[in-house]
Amino acid sequence: VKVEEKLFQNRYRVDAGRPHISIINQDTCRVECTTQECTVCCPAGCYTTEGNGQVVLITDGCLECGTCRIICSTYRNVDWEYPRGGYGILFKFG
Ligand code: SF4
Repeated sequence: VKVEEKLFQNRYRVDAGRPHISIINQDTCRVECTTQECTVCCPAGCYTTEGNGQVVLITDGCLECGTCRIICSTYRNVDWEYPRGGYGILFKFG
């Protein structure tokens, strides 16, 4: 089974308007960070980059793995919390 097929089995309850992760300073991503690891390392592809270097974060498919919080170690530019109770990912086991 491909990873994409496994991810498709997960269910999410999106807390509309209250994303649990945010980029603290967009200019830091765009101007200072040359590597933008988040756009490569997020297993759910939540981070993408636009042509001007802007990083766009959409947390709807977030797996709550914490990779982005750790990988942004130079700038610590990710504000990360678990979703509030009842929201976020529902993993399917088995
Ligand atoms: Fe992606 Fe994991 Fe960060 Fe969620 S916690 S945005 S899945 S890297």
